Amino acid sequence: MIIACPCALVLATPMSVMVATGKGATFGVLFMDAESIETMRLVDTLVVDITGTLTEGRPQLTDVITVNGWSEEELLSVAAGLERNSEHPLAEAIVSGAEDRGFEPVKSEYFESHTGRGVSGKISGQQILLGNKRLLQSFGVSSDDLERKVENLRAEGKTAMYVAIGAKAAGILSVSDPIKETSAEAIDKLHQAGIRIVMLTGDNQGTANAVADKLGIDDFVAEVMPADKARAVKELQEKGKVVAMAGDGINDAPALAQAQVGIAMGTGTDVAMESARVTLVKGDLRGIVRAALLSKATMRNIKQNLFFAFIYNAMGVPIAAGVLYPVFGLLLSPMI
Ligand code: ADP
Ligand code: MG
Repeated sequence: MIIACPCALVLATPMSVMVATGKGATFGVLFMDAESIETMRLVDTLVVDITGTLTEGRPQLTDVITVNGWSEEELLSVAAGLERNSEHPLAEAIVSGAEDRGFEPVKSEYFESHTGRGVSGKISGQQILLGNKRLLQSFGVSSDDLERKVENLRAEGKTAMYVAIGAKAAGILSVSDPIKETSAEAIDKLHQAGIRIVMLTGDNQGTANAVADKLGIDDFVAEVMPADKARAVKELQEKGKVVAMAGDGINDAPALAQAQVGIAMGTGTDVAMESARVTLVKGDLRGIVRAALLSKATMRNIKQNLFFAFIYNAMGVPIAAGVLYPVFGLLLSPMI
């Protein structure tokens, strides 16, 4: 009995690690090392990126608003011409949006990408800007004509981008990325597990507010430049929080590495998965709840194993040495 009991439990330790890794497809959680299994149960704050993490990561062009006499076709053809050069998910949405409406992209003569702000270029000798307010400001172009319309789109949770042609506002393009069906449930369960959720996004305050409201997110930081995501995680850690960060993009990699537990979406970029120690195979946030529960159960299991292993040794060694021999005539082979 005494022999069988500890053996089974000691064996149970590597098995529970295998449940987390080997059967990744059923749990949807892949742990890359033992340390993250241990740390996961201590996490009190989850930092998430919006695009691809809370949302599907497949934004669609929804609204095209023009000003100063430009037509929808002119605006979209120029925008798509520029965005063909960009790999941003927003760019993809604009290019397919133009195609779906039957508009041909106009070839750009020059193209430049401005991280966290947008893109610029030259088409038919005219300067084209497409991105957020910061981008227009850095080129000295006013966006005053568009402000109210942009706010309305953002209040609906859409990402609104300004278009300027030849140093003047030309219109707005808005893109919407549907929230994953599973996000609301995941957030509810994380809350029940006592985990606070903080959203980080490069998007505008208005859009972030609408998304946070919709999902009941505790806190958010909007207009975060990609390089500042890791710093935002560090600031939370300095306040004593144990932070898990979930993200999918190239931009998220430094923050994933900074967090105590980096969680990559299996549906995201390879860079994110390489920086993270935990991967949600199906990109389903509910996996984080499971990971936290699994971490608690595994640590309990490991402690039980250690307890039984010590008890077994504490009893077995003296018996083998012959403490019970004089009274009961009992001896244990030292091999056992
Ligand atoms: P996130 O990854 O959080 O969505 P980014 O830092 O990639 O944010 O982008 C921040 C903002 O910069 C976007 O919301 C958008 O307004 C603008 N932007 C970035 N890239 C592009 C692009 N290729 N075309 C248009 N706008 C862009
Ligand atoms: Mg992103």
